[in-house]
Amino acid sequence: MNRLIRHGYIVTNDIHQTVLERGDVLICGDTIAAVGADLSQQASALPDLETIDAANRIVMPGLIDAHMHSNEGFEMGRYDNLPLEIWLSEVYPPAHVPHMTWRDKYLRAMLVGIVSIRSGVTTLQDDVLNLAFTPDAVDATASAYRDLGLRGWITASMWDEGYCDSLPFLRNIMPEALVQTLDALPVPGPKDQIALFHQLRDSWHEKDNMRIILGPCGPQRCSPELLGAVADLSRSLDLPIHCHVLETKTQAVTGQEKYGKTLVGFLADVGCLTHRLTMNHAIWLTESDIEMMGDAGCSITHNPLANLKLGSGVSPVRTLLRSGVNVALGCDGVASADTADMFQAFKAASMVHKIGTFDYSEWIGAHDVMQMATHGGARSGLMGDAVGSIEVGKQADIILLDRHEWGLMPLHDPVQQIAFSASSEAVQTSIIAGKVVMKDRKLCCVDEEALRGEIAEAADRFLREECPQMTRHAATVRPFLDQMYAKATEREIGLGPRVRLQPASKAVR
Ligand SMILES: [Zn+2]
Repeated sequence: MNRLIRHGYIVTNDIHQTVLERGDVLICGDTIAAVGADLSQQASALPDLETIDAANRIVMPGLIDAHMHSNEGFEMGRYDNLPLEIWLSEVYPPAHVPHMTWRDKYLRAMLVGIVSIRSGVTTLQDDVLNLAFTPDAVDATASAYRDLGLRGWITASMWDEGYCDSLPFLRNIMPEALVQTLDALPVPGPKDQIALFHQLRDSWHEKDNMRIILGPCGPQRCSPELLGAVADLSRSLDLPIHCHVLETKTQAVTGQEKYGKTLVGFLADVGCLTHRLTMNHAIWLTESDIEMMGDAGCSITHNPLANLKLGSGVSPVRTLLRSGVNVALGCDGVASADTADMFQAFKAASMVHKIGTFDYSEWIGAHDVMQMATHGGARSGLMGDAVGSIEVGKQADIILLDRHEWGLMPLHDPVQQIAFSASSEAVQTSIIAGKVVMKDRKLCCVDEEALRGEIAEAADRFLREECPQMTRHAATVRPFLDQMYAKATEREIGLGPRVRLQPASKAVR
């Protein structure tokens, strides 16, 4: 199938930031074949051509949500006023593995995938935290995205350090009996985890627009042996590593307590700090961490919704960009961001960096965020040549926005209006790999209304059967986590909250 998008307001997002106020995009199969003022003649020579009238549409590259945990699909709005480590014990209680069927896992991913597509996401980098260490969770997630037509870069998630070894001070705070119970929880060793990665890769990699990437959960949760194996695989297969790093002050303290160095330094020691590494969050960084990251040319995902919700802090995005680090944008899991709507993450990222300095030349604006949500995400997934802009030879991942959406009238600057005034309701049509997956806000590849009923039933079952058990398990560790959290956050580590109200002297020249 070939497609001609006709008479649109085209935001190419190419290196020159070319905008065509009235132009065409020609798609041959899954690839962009031409971009220009009038391609009707060129298109008329093609067989099997569908013309899409875009006279009242903004045509732009699809957004890349570079950090998601779709396994949290049924937990939107369930938590509030909890910092990461305590929140984690509620969402992922130690000693609790959810009893969910394959179909339930498919439906929770479907929910996240639907919200993503409806907010302009064409690629979802999804860190499916796989508590059971079986192929089920990734298999169900990839199946859902395949059925939706969504592009998925999905982690084989991994960790092999015990609960008490991944948090500071806990062994001395918890009663001995509880430590023993937690230490006795089975965790597969590096060999088994790598074997599962290969199994998932054989099933899904480079099939149906899916890729399987490496997902060590965090440096404090993985042994040097496991991270070394991940580094080797990343190098030999040229695959991204997707890893949570220094999201909280507690994690910065963990690095000092566990390894006697920063977690960035530890990642460098085990061979993971390369241009293939994406650090999720990257907030509590030292100056030398940032320098090492820039030298390596690594990426981060910036997830302001989750960082604000969990009180984690704000990533020093401007400093990271200046040092050469690539920055991608993510919502993060829906138990912390509470949404997979990328417009909300876009807005938060465009707003939050205006707090912290009066020097407005340092602020992060909507156009910076547009780069994060497109090229930044593409580079994080090592797919910079394939997606992120409307350019000849790239994959046809394109969204069409209604110019008559309330927040887009009149059209001052589409990128700034996505950040500040429009809602994701503006996204009318989504094309992924040349295939129309949503048209006039109706999903084309699945029966959304039938799924809505089935998802509601599965979500309700989760609420009734899983949530009470999760709450019970979380309560067993809560008092000790509170003590750990207090001790870690009291520690002087030379990094403060990044609210330094510098005078405006640099901005006002
Ligand atoms: Zn995350």
